[in-house]
Amino acid sequence: MLGRLIINADLVVKTGLHIGGGNSSVEIGGIDNSVIKNHKGEPYIPGSSLKGKLRSLTELAHNKIGKNEKGENLPCNCGECIICKIYGASASEENKTQDRLPTRIIVRDAFLKDSIAEDMRKKRGEFKELELAYTESKWENSIDRLTSKANPRLFERVPEGAIFELEVIYTIYNEEDIGNFKYLIEGFKFVEDDYLGGNGTRGYGKVNLENIKFFVKTIDDYTIKQFGDVKASVNEINDTWISELKKEMIHS
Ligand SMILES: [Zn+2]
Repeated sequence: MLGRLIINADLVVKTGLHIGGGNSSVEIGGIDNSVIKNHKGEPYIPGSSLKGKLRSLTELAHNKIGKNEKGENLPCNCGECIICKIYGASASEENKTQDRLPTRIIVRDAFLKDSIAEDMRKKRGEFKELELAYTESKWENSIDRLTSKANPRLFERVPEGAIFELEVIYTIYNEEDIGNFKYLIEGFKFVEDDYLGGNGTRGYGKVNLENIKFFVKTIDDYTIKQFGDVKASVNEINDTWISELKKEMIHS
């Protein structure tokens, strides 16, 4: 292993975000589709949810979506492509001769920035119209395909302007991993052009990454230090940046 690259960024909600909470029982204010929340009752973005989106959008872009016998999409598990190298592959029939590939990335659960959570609780600034502690609600109509009956449902959403603190850790085992880092950056761009959570086709879940900071920990000097300047957006990370990272990681 050469070291780790730690990415910290503001994940900014641009349009109401709905990542389902999974509990369908009684909810406040008649909401029947609530968002996932932590023990403090604050909404958060599960790392698995963002990681899954990064992976599936990268698979789509590189034509690596597998199908099972029912025709459902399956994650690639070839063990050889850049997607399996970044996101991991499990030992399977096809690749059992290989060692199980370690996952290069860890996406931590992203929680609300403290100052934003406080603004929401106190209904300050852009959150002054917020109906619930940290969220808004929105009616969505769907038409039952069999009965043609309208079926209005109330969705809970994290409002525009919310900021979550994102942390992603990318482990670098070899020089190739440094080059492959550009595919993770590409994945972030795909997410910005797509959506997180549910109801994306109704315009929900547009997010941007801002104030991106990178920290490196090399294995010969396992202290953490910031690498490069703070980037306003993922579009500022280019090939020159990647080659500078390579120099930083392999300076021996
Ligand atoms: Zn693969």
